[in-house]
Amino acid sequence: MTDLNPFFADLKRPYVFPIIEQKLEDCRKRYPDVQILNFGIGDIALPLAPAIVEAMVRATIEMGQSSSLRGYGPSEGYSFLRSAIAANTYQGLNISQDEIFISDGTNSDVANVQELFPSNCFVGIPDPTYPVYLDTNIIAGREKNIRILPCTNETRFVPTPPSEHCDIVYLCSPNNPTGEALTRDELANWVSWAQEHKAVLILDHAYAAFVTSDNVPKSIYEIPGAHEVAIECKSFSKSAGFTGLRCGYMVMPKTLKGTVAGAPNSIHSLWAKRTGIKSNGVSYPVQRAAEASLSEAGKKQTEEQVALYLRNAQALKKGLEEKGFCCFGGVNSPYIWCAVPNGMKSWDFFDYLLNTCQIISVPGSGFGKLGEGFIRFSAFSTEEKISLALKRIENICVSC
Ligand code: PLP
Repeated sequence: MTDLNPFFADLKRPYVFPIIEQKLEDCRKRYPDVQILNFGIGDIALPLAPAIVEAMVRATIEMGQSSSLRGYGPSEGYSFLRSAIAANTYQGLNISQDEIFISDGTNSDVANVQELFPSNCFVGIPDPTYPVYLDTNIIAGREKNIRILPCTNETRFVPTPPSEHCDIVYLCSPNNPTGEALTRDELANWVSWAQEHKAVLILDHAYAAFVTSDNVPKSIYEIPGAHEVAIECKSFSKSAGFTGLRCGYMVMPKTLKGTVAGAPNSIHSLWAKRTGIKSNGVSYPVQRAAEASLSEAGKKQTEEQVALYLRNAQALKKGLEEKGFCCFGGVNSPYIWCAVPNGMKSWDFFDYLLNTCQIISVPGSGFGKLGEGFIRFSAFSTEEKISLALKRIENICVSC
């Protein structure tokens, strides 16, 4: 038989979502007449905004006419979308449209970006973490080179620069799963650390649209020096409901440099080369839809959706805190990171909540060892479901 990539054997942590799905299925059988409230997976709960649907339909009709048909598009994305992003999201931040690479979402970007770096490089990854950073680096053979960045009560549930060297560091802000965001000073500290260590920061900014605090930047390029050390990944998934359409982008400033076989090289030019080799781009209607989310009407409609998710997060957090739970996040993020009460383990409390209140959460231990003792609630839901959940948890017994 053929030898396969041996590093798959290093993936030891069980993936939580299939286990949750199974428990959800069992719960449905046990309580067929009860509405199960799912605050588990961070998927959208509202339909696509009308401006997005209209643009997508228009683009599809265009493709059905011989006068305006579209075949393969540019690997790095259509100029209409790259320029709309540069003008809207990066206005005044010195990012040009050719530094923006369109993709099918941040998941692929954070998974693929590590191909730029040698297999023996040292990688800083938060714990708890969005699992893709860890798993893709393990598959690439870097398990022994991973340096854990703790996100605990002591660090305000965000990563802090390590004393040991890393070549690349994944940051996620607002953070999934802890819901906390890096402040301007904290991000500036990371930029200085990266300059000192000649490291590259990969910022997963999938939840940038949820930032409401003045001291939390909406882009790392607000920080002086970031253009020399940081790659930023953003997504239309959570800002505009594109989880089913698929579109995101990665910003690679031309000032980011590294060496290839000892000779200085631009990271941007390597990524442009890699994109040309590996991608045939994102579909035209999807890119038109993404462009529409940045139009005046699109922005208004999608901002209303984000505001509703944030109101949900705040209502859920307030209700949980009134009940005696210790909660974090939920201000610049749709996620609430909740300390498990009475010294229970994450999975035990997950089961307890499911069995007593028919509420689905995600056990914090599924995001890393340091997530043990927490559960994550997602506020991608409706106001009605949040109120119903709060009524149900009224009767449970809690002490942090
Ligand atoms: N990054 C983080 C931190 C996420 O939480 C998610 C989805 O939940 C993603 C990336 C995936 O983004 P996309 O849908 O653009 O692939």
